[in-house]
Amino acid sequence: MELPRGGHWRNWVGNQSFVAEHMASPQSEDEISALVHAATSQGKSVRCAGSGHSFTPVVATSGLLMSLQNYQGITHVDQQRKRVSVKAGTKLNTITRFLKEVGYSLKNQGDIDSQAIAGALATGTHGTGTTLGNLSSQVVGMKIVRPDGSVMEVTDNDNLDLLHATQVNIGMFGVITEMTLEVSDAYWLHDRVWREDFESLMERYDELAAKHRHFGFFWCPTSESRHLYCLPDTQKVSLSNKDFDVCEVKVMDMTDERTFYEGEHEKIAYSSEVFAIHYVANFHELEYAVPAQYGKQALREIRDLVLTKHPNCIYPVEYRFTKGDPAWISPFHNQDSVTISCSGGPNGVDYWPFLKDVDDILRQYGSRPHWGKLHFTQREDVDRWFPKAEEFRQLRRSVDPNGYFLNDHLRALFG
Ligand SMILES: Cc1cc2nc3c(=O)[nH]c(=O)nc-3n(C[C@H](O)[C@H](O)[C@H](O)COP(=O)(O)OP(=O)(O)OC[C@H]3O[C@@H](n4cnc5c(N)ncnc54)[C@H](O)[C@@H]3O)c2cc1C
Repeated sequence: MELPRGGHWRNWVGNQSFVAEHMASPQSEDEISALVHAATSQGKSVRCAGSGHSFTPVVATSGLLMSLQNYQGITHVDQQRKRVSVKAGTKLNTITRFLKEVGYSLKNQGDIDSQAIAGALATGTHGTGTTLGNLSSQVVGMKIVRPDGSVMEVTDNDNLDLLHATQVNIGMFGVITEMTLEVSDAYWLHDRVWREDFESLMERYDELAAKHRHFGFFWCPTSESRHLYCLPDTQKVSLSNKDFDVCEVKVMDMTDERTFYEGEHEKIAYSSEVFAIHYVANFHELEYAVPAQYGKQALREIRDLVLTKHPNCIYPVEYRFTKGDPAWISPFHNQDSVTISCSGGPNGVDYWPFLKDVDDILRQYGSRPHWGKLHFTQREDVDRWFPKAEEFRQLRRSVDPNGYFLNDHLRALFG
């Protein structure tokens, strides 16, 4: 098979770009297999792009870059076990529109729904909720094309090690062609937002985290901060008389209501119509999973850092909750965590010194990186923070001994 001509690729925000010698958007699993086999038999590396929403060099390749944008759709619904199989290029919002029609919901979602399902799961994408795992924890099966073009099946009924190694995979086990997700019965959410003083929220934090299915907030250092993330103006429901050094709080709870309602500061809708918020591509984000018991302390240190040393770094700091899961390189591996995300900028501000200072704080707590967001993680950090790191590498090598599915960034961490 002749490999198609390549070209230039860049991610959504524009901080990652490269030229691939070959690019392809296959339409069938057979075509994916043939392309992988053709590339590896010429000694060329293979990587996949989802929708390009990662900030890190997790897509880059000089060899064959594949997009599964022409390989989308629902392949199977198992009503008895509430499982849905989808082609790996399917966008999250396509999946959730389908789920609504057939009476199901995803158990949890993050702030956007434009990712390809394989891309979102590859980096351990998460939402918020102390009792809810990340999106990868909803995966119970996968089909993955190996270097020789053959298809490996991963299921939850024979080799759990393989499932837990591949649930969060950053594309290192091969090209994922299909994923099976465990879903829940359809549910509707009642969403409410308000503004509150930092200290008052810290006092109510444990109660809010325990009481609401989803609770998260953005700490906004200045009155300009919320505009950078397009957060709504919650002035009318503010429990504070300030608009700086405040938290923009959001809770979502299941409701029996089934009529769509949208007020100024609340909304009732089918689950997936509530989760996603709007972002513009103006930020460069770092996010770490901090062991839950250190969350508040870590946030206080970051707040001090912004207010004292980096007063120009005024993006909101997002704070969320995720339950531990068994995936080997999941940021939440066997550890209930809070996630703290900080963004560099705004435009014109050199954000690296700020993000490095944030890393210095969060690494003291044994925090683990979100693989799709900026981080400073080295190989020795991976060994320290991920107890299954070496087993992950060994299993990866057994599937791809020549490292066709690695790139420089990933070889340094997992080669
Ligand atoms: C505005 C914005 C909001 C975000 N909100 C959240 C959030 O709320 N929570 C959160 O946790 N993260 C969030 N993220 C991060 C985002 O969810 C992750 O970076 C996610 O991995 C991006 O998915 P993608 O489809 O764009 O994949 P890409 O970034 O294109 O790729 C991610 C990885 O998946 C691999 N991959 C893709 N498809 C395949 C395949 N078929 N087979 C093998 N490997 C594959 C790629 O090679 C790469 O390693 C956000 C990012 C942005 C820009």
